[in-house]
This record gives sequence, structure tokens and C-alpha cells, in this order.
Amino acid sequence: MIEAQNLIGGQEVTTSQRMEVFSPSRPDEVIGHIPQSIGVEVDLAVQAARDALRAWKQLGPMGRSSLMFQAAAILEQRVDELAQLASQEMGKPIGEARGEALRAVAILRYYAGQGAYPVGDVIPAANATTLQYTTREPLGVVGIITPWNFPLAIPMWKVAPALIYGNTVVIKPAELSSLTAYRMFSLIQGLFPPGVLNVVIGRGAEAGAALVQHPGIRGISFTGSSQVGQGIARAAADRGVKYQLEMGGKNAVIVADDANIEQAVELVVSGAMRSAGQKCTATSRVIVLDGIHHAFREALTKRVKSLAVGDPLDANTYLGPVVSASQQKRVYTFIEHAQREGYAAVTGGQLLDRPGYFIAPTVFDEVRPDAEIAQEEVFGPVVAIIPAATLDEAITITNGVRYGLSASVFTRNLTTALKMVDELEVGMVRVNEETAGVEYQAPFGGMKASSSHSREQGLAAREFYTETKTVAIRA
Ligand code: NAD
Repeated sequence: MIEAQNLIGGQEVTTSQRMEVFSPSRPDEVIGHIPQSIGVEVDLAVQAARDALRAWKQLGPMGRSSLMFQAAAILEQRVDELAQLASQEMGKPIGEARGEALRAVAILRYYAGQGAYPVGDVIPAANATTLQYTTREPLGVVGIITPWNFPLAIPMWKVAPALIYGNTVVIKPAELSSLTAYRMFSLIQGLFPPGVLNVVIGRGAEAGAALVQHPGIRGISFTGSSQVGQGIARAAADRGVKYQLEMGGKNAVIVADDANIEQAVELVVSGAMRSAGQKCTATSRVIVLDGIHHAFREALTKRVKSLAVGDPLDANTYLGPVVSASQQKRVYTFIEHAQREGYAAVTGGQLLDRPGYFIAPTVFDEVRPDAEIAQEEVFGPVVAIIPAATLDEAITITNGVRYGLSASVFTRNLTTALKMVDELEVGMVRVNEETAGVEYQAPFGGMKASSSHSREQGLAAREFYTETKTVAIRA
């Protein structure tokens, strides 16, 4: 049982109202409690973060880097514990959860290393004795709001760059993954001066909204649904606060006639079914050229039928439950609508008769591009096969949704690959790779309704978490 608290100004701070946390694979079991913070706690956290700013900036990038390397060493010792908790709290299979915990450590090290990187340019000046250069300044206090589907990696890929570039942080993790976020940050928070890293736990509409609207925040980084993201964009723009939003996806795989079917099937299954399809980059549509359609569908169906669905803590499990009862209902409603529209699932299509929020991995075939299941983000273990007669038609279908996060193409033909890279309206194009799994050192983000057109990860993070200052010094 974990009793999570807010972490504010270096102290554990509780609230009178607390919420119970249940495991999605054993919904009768309470596994912990989390605070239900409101504006008061957010105020305290933002104030603590403001008070800590000056000293944190003055510590300099190398000093901050050293503390972050120490934090990474601590987390590395606790990877198994963190993976277990994440798996229990949100249902991700243990192997994937372990991979995510290791990734969070690697991300922290990557940004710690950025402390030793150059930050600006020397620029010629008209006066030969003037030194003119650019440098980078932190934004100030950054508010971070994260979803539950990557409870370790997403918080870390926002917090680590914010810290290395000299910002202080208030993070509000998702309600459904706050035990995991609390555990990870409580292990390292004490390494930093009080107030540098604050965690406030509570509901989105209360603690999240209070953070977004707080006048002490200079930047907001959000990952979650488009609906919430759009509200955050309006609130931030009204007050001139810098913001960054990573939102939904409706990611397509195109399987060309000359694809390696075995490879395509394995990576479509991985992209669509790992984490029970609850990734913003999950494969949700497979657009298959007519010449390979039959063979691909048969091979995909066979593989999906073979997947081990079960207890996420069992190392043999390929996919576990979805995160909550309401998520199960939401995904199942999409399945029912598709069935009502006349599509029969070639495999799956039902809930599993066992405790927990399990949905059978589901494949629909012969789906029209305008069907609901081909247009809306499902965020569950469901994939729609859409046949296409030509590569141009496949591109039109891929681009015919409001999202533009990730897309893959399977082909052995370089000309086809380059055509896709050129014409797909997505932030990340992947050839003979799954739609998910973008590495942490590469810029991550989407086009269209998937993103606010900014990028996370890699060096792109510096653009968001800093402002440029132009300096001229005459001798
Ligand atoms: P969500 O939008 O419901 O919640 C995300 C976060 O926002 C949570 O911490 C929540 O408490 C908070 N929140 C909710 N209402 C708020 C409000 N009014 N003001 C401020 N904060 C508020 O999303 P979710 O269900 O946790 O996550 C699933 C969604 O996240 C999917 O749409 C998925 O595509 C998206 N996602 C995107 C990416 C990406 O990088 N593009 C990555 C992971 C998940």
C-alpha cells in the first residue's frame, strides 16, 4: 500500500481529502491513496518553486548536471520497484514497464549531460571591440501536466529538460498514475534544493486547472487529450504564457505490395497491442494495398489470436487490461459502434470474462476510411484494416484524419519510402519500423491536431524550456 503525498518545497504535504487507487487488473484491491489537491496546494507549490529559482539558476548548468546524474544513479537502483508499481497501477505488462523505467533513467542522464553543452553563438559586431553573443535563459517556474499511459517516461522527459536549463518545476501527474509519479520523484527530490522539484497530485479539473491558471507560471508543458489541451492553449495564450501540447493520434501503417509481411505483421501487432493500444503513437489503422491484403489479414489475424492476454505482472503477458472502467467502456463503445455500422471483427470484438478491465485484442477488416473506427482515436487494443488500390490512395487515406502524429510504411522499395516521407502529413514518419517507439534523443511531436507544433525530446526540448538573450559587451 502506497500513501502518496504532495512534494512541496522539499516537504511531504498531505490534503484532508484523499482518493483511493485501484489496480486495473484487480479492481477490488486498493493499492494506495493519493492526495486530492486544489488551488491552495498549487499556490504553495508555485510559491516554493519561485523561491527556489534564483539559487537554482545560479548553481549553473554543470552544478545542476551533477545533481541530476546523482538522481539517475538512485533511480537506476530502483528500476524493478518502479516498474512493478507502474504495472500494478496502470496495467502495463511488466516487461514494458521495466523498459519504460530504464528509459526514464536514460532520459535523466541524457539531459544531465546537456549541462556541459554550448548554449549560444558568438556573433560578429560592427565595433571590433564589442563582444556580441547569445545565451539561454530559463523560463522560470514551469507547470507540467502529464497523462497516465507513460507514468515514468513522460514526466521525466519534461522534468529533466526543465531542470537542466535552470527552471523550477511544479508537476501535476495524471490521477491514474500518481502513485508511480510520487514514488519516482520522492526518491530523488531530496537531492535538489527545496522547491526546485514540486509534485502536486489531484484531479485535472481542480489541481490541473489551478496550475494552468496560476499567475506565477511562465511555461506549461502538457501531454494528454486534445480536448483538455485545447483548453490549456486558450488559457495560456490569453496570459502570454509559453505552452507546449502533445495530444492525440490516429496513426496509420501503410503496407505496400512489396512489404516483408512477417516484419509488417510483427510491428503492426506491437504498435497496436502493446500497452493495450494506449499510446499516443499506437497503430490504429493499417492501410493495405489490394495485392497483399488477403495474405496480410490472414497473418495478422493469426498473430493477434496468439497473443497472451493476462496479468500484467506475469512476464509472459503480451497485453494486460486497459487502465480503468471508464476507458474500457469508451473503447468498447467504439467496438459496438463499428459492429453496428456493419463491420465484423475478424478477431476479438468483446470484453474478456474475467475480473479487471480487459478487452480482447480486436481487428476489423474492410473498414471504410470515413468510418468512426477509422477516424477517432480509440486508445485501446483495436486496429482497423483499410484496403487501398494504389499508393496515392493510401496516402490520401492516411492524411484524411484530423491528427498527424506518427505513420509507418512497410516497403522494400526506396522510391516508395521516399514518396511516403515526402507526402505523409505527420510529425514522425517511420519506414519498416512500428509507429510507436520513437527514441528519446530524437525530436518527438506531431502535426495538425496532434500537437501545438512544438517538439519535445532531444535538443528540441531546449527551444521550449529556454529563451534566447542577445548580449553585447563593449570593452
Ligand atoms: P487527459 O487529457 O484526460 O489528462 C491528461 C492530464 O491532464 C492529466 O494529468 C489530467 O489530470 C489533466 N487534466 C485534465 N483536465 C484538466 C484541466 N481542465 N486542466 C488542466 N489539466 C487537466 O488525458 P489522459 O486520458 O490522461 O491521456 C490519454 C490521452 O493522452 C490520449 O488522447 C493520448 O493520445 C494522449 N497522449 C499523447 C501523447 C503525445 O505525446 N502526443 C503521449 C501520451 C498520451
